[in-house]
Amino acid sequence: IAICAYVGEIAAGSVVRYAGAIQQLIQALTDLMSAWTRLHRNRAVMEEYLAYLDLKDVKKKGTIPVEKRRDGKFLIEFRNVSFRYPGTEKYVLKGMNVTLEIGERMALVGPNGSGKTTFIKLLCRLYDPTEGSILLNGVDIRKYDYQEYMQLFSVVFQDFQIFPFALGEYVAGSGQVERERAMDAIRRGGLEELLGKMPEGLNTMLNRDFSDQGVEISGGEAQKLAMARAIYKNAPFVILDEPTAALDAIAESEMYKMVNNLVEDHTALFISHRLSSTQFCDRILFLEHGMIVEDGTHEELMKRKGKYARMF
Ligand code: ADP
Repeated sequence: IAICAYVGEIAAGSVVRYAGAIQQLIQALTDLMSAWTRLHRNRAVMEEYLAYLDLKDVKKKGTIPVEKRRDGKFLIEFRNVSFRYPGTEKYVLKGMNVTLEIGERMALVGPNGSGKTTFIKLLCRLYDPTEGSILLNGVDIRKYDYQEYMQLFSVVFQDFQIFPFALGEYVAGSGQVERERAMDAIRRGGLEELLGKMPEGLNTMLNRDFSDQGVEISGGEAQKLAMARAIYKNAPFVILDEPTAALDAIAESEMYKMVNNLVEDHTALFISHRLSSTQFCDRILFLEHGMIVEDGTHEELMKRKGKYARMF
C-alpha cells in the first residue's frame, strides 16, 4: 500500500482504508483461530459429559411402588447397617440399629466426622449400605422404585447450590412452577423481604451468570431458599443438615420456630453442631465413630450426664 501510494497509484486517503481492511482481516483470522481452539477444548469436555449421561443408573433396579399414605405412616429402620465409602477401608458407620418413628422431631448430633451426613446419604440412597439393610415399612429400600422413594424426602444438604434459574423454578425444582405454592414456600421460608427485592418476582434470575438482571443473594438467604425448596416439595420426611450454619443467632432462632411449625405432622431430622436446636426435638441421637452411643430426649440425656450432656 505504501509503495502504491508513493508511486501515486492510489490516493493517500485510500491508504487508511486499505490498512484498516488488513487490520480487520488479521483480527478476523485471530478470532477464527481462537473459536477453533475453543471448539476443540469444548469437545473434550462434551465427550466427558456425554459419557457421564450414558452411565448406567444403578439405582433404578427397584420396582415396588411406594405406598401413598395420607397419614404419613412411614417407618424407617436401619438394621445392622455398616458402611465404608467405595475404595476406602475405614468403616464410617458400624452396625447401626435404629428406627425412625413417624412424626418425631429428631436431632442427630455428634463430633465432626462421626458419620452424621453419611447416615443421611444412606437414607437418601446416595449410597447403599456395605452391610445390613435399611427398611421402609419392613421392605428393603433398594426394592422400591427410586424416583418414588425420593419423593418421600425433602433434604437440605450442607453443600446445596444456588443454580442460575428463575427464583420460582429453583424453588419448584422444575420448569413447571405452581406459583401460589412457590410464593407460599418462599414466605414460609422467611424470604418475604427477598421477594420484595426481586424485580420480576418469581421470574427473577438467581445470580448473574446468565442475566444482568439476576439478583445475587447472601449466604443466609441462600440457606432460607434451600429451605423454601424443601417446603415446596412437602415430603413426609424433612431432613436438614446444618440448616443454620450461615445464619446469625436471631435468624437461627426464627428458623427453628419456622421449622417447628413446618414439620407438624412430618418426620424431621436435624443435623446440627449448635445444640440449641436439640431442645425442641423429641429425640436425640448421639453419634460417635459411626455408632449411636446415646438415644433419648434432651432431659433423659442430660440426666444421664454422658457424652451429650458434656457436649451440651
Ligand atoms: P459428619 O457429618 O458427622 O461430620 P461425615 O458423615 O461427613 O461426618 O463423615 C464421616 C467420615 O466419612 C469422615 O471421616 C469423612 O472423612 C469420611 N467421608 C465422608 N465423605 C467421604 C467420601 N465421599 N469418601 C470417603 N470418605 C468420606
